[in-house]
Amino acid sequence: MGSRRCVGWNKILPRGTTSLLRRGDVREKEVNQMMLAAVYHGPNDLRIEEIPLPEISSDEALLKVLSTGICGTDLRIWHGAHRKYSPGTIRTPGHEVVGDIVEIGSDVKGLDIGQRIFMAPNMGCGHCRQCISGNNNLCIDYEAPGITFDGSFAEYMLIPAAAIIHGNIIPISREIDPSIATLIEPFACVLRGQEAVHIQPGESVLVVGAGPIGIMHVLLAKLHGAGLVIVSEINPGRASQVKEFGADLVVNPANEDLTGIISERTDGLGVDVILLAAPAQEAFKAAVEYASIGGRINFFAGLPKDDPTIELNANLIHYKEIFVTGTTASSTQNCRQAAQILSSGRIDLSNLISARFPLSDAIQAFSVADSGEGLKVILEP
Ligand SMILES: [Zn+2]
Ligand SMILES: [Zn+2]
Repeated sequence: MGSRRCVGWNKILPRGTTSLLRRGDVREKEVNQMMLAAVYHGPNDLRIEEIPLPEISSDEALLKVLSTGICGTDLRIWHGAHRKYSPGTIRTPGHEVVGDIVEIGSDVKGLDIGQRIFMAPNMGCGHCRQCISGNNNLCIDYEAPGITFDGSFAEYMLIPAAAIIHGNIIPISREIDPSIATLIEPFACVLRGQEAVHIQPGESVLVVGAGPIGIMHVLLAKLHGAGLVIVSEINPGRASQVKEFGADLVVNPANEDLTGIISERTDGLGVDVILLAAPAQEAFKAAVEYASIGGRINFFAGLPKDDPTIELNANLIHYKEIFVTGTTASSTQNCRQAAQILSSGRIDLSNLISARFPLSDAIQAFSVADSGEGLKVILEP
């Protein structure tokens, strides 16, 4: 292991740990340096425990986690339904992370101790067709914190060499609330989703689902100049919330005629853009009916993996020349752009955070996030 640049360790060390020993000319942390983490041990078995502080190599860095968001992916992991968490996996989840760099390997260039950063989670291999074209989220050999290695539901997180070399480390201003900055990740996914359907000023948009992602779609559609944003949501709490975020009309498809309302509000033309941001089979099926001639549809959400097949009227796609696409996750470029939009102040995501918990209450935080009652739940180690 190479030597490290590390400053102010006494300030950085978690409480209850001992200071560094000097052994020869190499500084080493004592083996008993521990940190708090929320560790997955199996389906619905998340444990708050003390685990060893990550040891970095000369080409890696150590992040002190300030804020980390719980997202739908983490809930899927918690319930044992994530494909990268095969039976027997013991791992710390968490991939929406903002923190300060507290230790840097001697071979690392371009990072500074004390720097506040957001880490774009998807690390591609760097040399396949998808990575070369900037779509590193589509790399089949991707790695991501909290997905394929220990993530951010901990006091400290290791930043691998690939993340540093491939540009995943995005410096952010200390003036932005770190918890809001964790939303760069989901917002980057939304940005990617809307890039695929290029909303034009004045166009009509239907967003299906009014969770945090659906709300971000509403905010961004408005920023793109959408003339009419209709939201379809069956949860009454979420339906009333989304109006405050700028939705022009909220429809509950369980007891209202969504097709009729769309027709009425668009002079019988249908909506120009449809963003499916909830795993609602019925809406996926009906989207080709809701769409205008030349309409664009994004299957933004995934459907349950045991029931992903739907029937579509192919003739509507054919005769109306409807464009149907899907997007998944976000590239590093999407994250950089999302960070830029957030720091420009053009979009305010602060009201999306409905609860903040210390790491020691992570299990309660997961339950709150899982209940679907609030919006975004954040852990602040
Ligand atoms: Zn996420
Ligand atoms: Zn790749």
